[in-house]
Amino acid sequence: MTKVFEEDLAAGIGTRAIHAGQRPEPLAGAIMTPVYLTSTYVQDGLGKHKGYEYARSRNPTREALERNVAALEGARHGFAFASGTACVDSLMKLFKAGDHVVCGENVYGGTFRLFDRLLQNFGLEFTYVDTRDSNRIEEACRTRTVAVLVETPTNPLMRLTDLSAAAEIAHRAGALLIVDNTFATPVLQRPFTHGADIVFHSTTKYLNGHSDMIGGIALLNDDDLAARIQFIQNAAGAVPGPFDCWLALRGTKTLHLRMAAHDANGRQVAAWLANKIGVERVIYPGLASHPQHELARSQMCGFGGMISVEMGSRDAAARVLERTRIFSLAESLGGVESLISHPATMTHASVPPDRRNALGITDGMIRLSCGVEDVGDLIGDLEFAFKGE
Ligand SMILES: *Cc1c(COP(=O)(O)O)cnc(C)c1O
Repeated sequence: MTKVFEEDLAAGIGTRAIHAGQRPEPLAGAIMTPVYLTSTYVQDGLGKHKGYEYARSRNPTREALERNVAALEGARHGFAFASGTACVDSLMKLFKAGDHVVCGENVYGGTFRLFDRLLQNFGLEFTYVDTRDSNRIEEACRTRTVAVLVETPTNPLMRLTDLSAAAEIAHRAGALLIVDNTFATPVLQRPFTHGADIVFHSTTKYLNGHSDMIGGIALLNDDDLAARIQFIQNAAGAVPGPFDCWLALRGTKTLHLRMAAHDANGRQVAAWLANKIGVERVIYPGLASHPQHELARSQMCGFGGMISVEMGSRDAAARVLERTRIFSLAESLGGVESLISHPATMTHASVPPDRRNALGITDGMIRLSCGVEDVGDLIGDLEFAFKGE
């Protein structure tokens, strides 16, 4: 089982990002964890091996990543998966037919699709609620509620959930609080300090940060639960390859630096947008006008680089989307490069139109993932794209 090196938990977040989970390689002392490209491990004799038998169960590169991210979140155990979606899918295998999950109504489109189109067919039951109001979570809990799953801030509506309140309600119902911390990362938000039981990420986004791999990871503290997830990781086998783990591990070394830059650029771009087109059209938790700004200030230690903007119509959105040059038109987020997207037809196309409209993901909404370029260039790019708005 991949356990964090306890001594790593004593260091600051930047030191953890760079060193946690990694020790010089024993053969030559290589300071960087090698990419262990192997499917199997030679055994010394019958029943005598170094703890490694087959790479679906264990791979040293994967373990280094699992330890590193566990340390970043302040957790004892980490389990990496082939994608963020594979991670959620594996976590749901903790449960069985008839079990009930309370889920935030504005979770990642692919998470909703997995629950609604696949896992429901296996007898798992889901209730989707607006988790901005903790009472809604409480009202949705039943005797067979096994988990409350939330994402905060959400994508693309930037809605927050009070994590401490959600944890208290989940625990009172005998359920686990599972938090998707992809947007905030452990640099801006630590769900375990608010009582979360499992935290997961799409490592594809900020943790890797360079838009060159797909991956997921789950972190947790409880030893028994960790043993069950390890069993699922091996038995269901949705594991990442060693090279993707190595890329993610290279990415996390600069996570604290990148998040500081994303946050600084996000604040400045949001302020510029608010001034240009009116604060009511800019959705960013760092703006005082955001209805949950106070919660964001108390629960997070920064607001990040994700901003949504209401353009009023699909045509107005298209005009901006097609005129930016530094902000590239693409799905995904969290890379060093700035991206711009149209949630209704891109990331949230898998959410049925009536549901999308009910949530407030309009055809006129655009979403910015502010990268770490020079902020003057980003604003110059938007200045050109927003001309005439
Ligand atoms: C991208 C994303 C996921 C899914 O992760 P993949 O690596 O694309 O499978 C889950 N949650 C959030 C918040 C995401 O942004």
